[in-house]
Amino acid sequence: MQASCHCGGVRYEVEEAPEWVLDCNCSRCRLYGALMAYYPQSEVKFATPLATSIYMWGDRDLEFHHCRTCFCFTHYTVAGLLDAPKIGVNARLLRGLDPAHVKVQHKNNGNDGVFWTKSDGPALPGHDLS
Ligand SMILES: [Zn+2]
Repeated sequence: MQASCHCGGVRYEVEEAPEWVLDCNCSRCRLYGALMAYYPQSEVKFATPLATSIYMWGDRDLEFHHCRTCFCFTHYTVAGLLDAPKIGVNARLLRGLDPAHVKVQHKNNGNDGVFWTKSDGPALPGHDLS
């Protein structure tokens, strides 16, 4: 599947559609409105050069990438790793992804149980990230 930000400045491909996406309600994800899908970093094929700006926060172990032109949140990576076992991509950028065939898993990192999406299952307990 192909993905791109609004302006097309950041593009990537993954082999398969995600079976589920994560809706996290921490202070950052709540504002981004992203739905995260997870893949080994080596399986996400980014078009190069990667034209992103990076936002880091808290303990600064994750790099949140945003398109430098249209500012879409595109993905996050583990700081300092180029071959992480897991990175998060913003599933809303995946072209043709059918929400009817993707489960939504809630993650209660905001510790208030408030989500804007629907999920069939209970929320995963949160960390103290808010
Ligand atoms: Zn863009």
